[in-house]
Amino acid sequence: MSTLPDFSDPRLPTLVVGHPGIMNFRGEEIALPEELLEKAMEELECLEEEVESTAPYPDFGRDALRRVYAIVDLVGDAVGGGMSCRPGCSACCRVMVATTAGEAVLMGDKIARTPSGQQSVWKRSIGERNALLDDLASKNTPPSDLTVFGGLLATCEMYERENRPCPFLGPDKLCGIYEERPLLCRVCWVLTDPVDCEPGQGPPVKFRTKVFEKAHALCGKISVIHFGDARVSPIPYWFRTEDQTGSKSLES
Ligand code: SF4
Ligand code: SF4
Repeated sequence: MSTLPDFSDPRLPTLVVGHPGIMNFRGEEIALPEELLEKAMEELECLEEEVESTAPYPDFGRDALRRVYAIVDLVGDAVGGGMSCRPGCSACCRVMVATTAGEAVLMGDKIARTPSGQQSVWKRSIGERNALLDDLASKNTPPSDLTVFGGLLATCEMYERENRPCPFLGPDKLCGIYEERPLLCRVCWVLTDPVDCEPGQGPPVKFRTKVFEKAHALCGKISVIHFGDARVSPIPYWFRTEDQTGSKSLES
């Protein structure tokens, strides 16, 4: 049995927990890998116990986050062929991606492993995006705090209207930190026409399962326990330099 999502339903920015089957905008049925989903849930639950019972330790946090990513990626690989997303299709890389502290550490590790010329390009772009983010946040009353979820929610639509690509999106429309991209970039699976992801179009209908919800919560928990940091911020915000923050940044 399959269920065709009501693509015109504005209440459906995300879909679908528990549907027996789904279709994409091309009318192709996507078989949900139920066993894989169950196994992924079990693995995430086991990992959560390990995360909670291990003494705070950033290297363990790094490893735990990569294990979360690996579990989610397996699900993504199983359904990816039915999704609209393809390499080089990158309209989604202009939205405000909320990331936890631990995920930012992994991204920072990737930046540190990258040749200095590319690092300089990214740093310039990061600086521009952060100036924009601060400007937009200051338009709210009171100004939005971009280290908490509410502040991101209050600012994300304004940011997306500016249509600025992520600092890590290359001129080839590929992600420059692909192997360390944060969770929300890994689960941005869309069933509708990619044109719905373009500015002013959509909204796109996204494929979601309880696995993604669980993984999202676990990334937050890992960041709190093993990196001692409960903040949630847009990607560029984690890499503000001293002159932008007046305080210690992840780069230093
Ligand atoms: S989320 Fe949208 S823009 Fe991004 S890869 Fe998928 S279809 Fe393309
Ligand atoms: S980290 Fe990569 S996938 Fe995520 S928004 Fe940036 S360029 Fe896109």
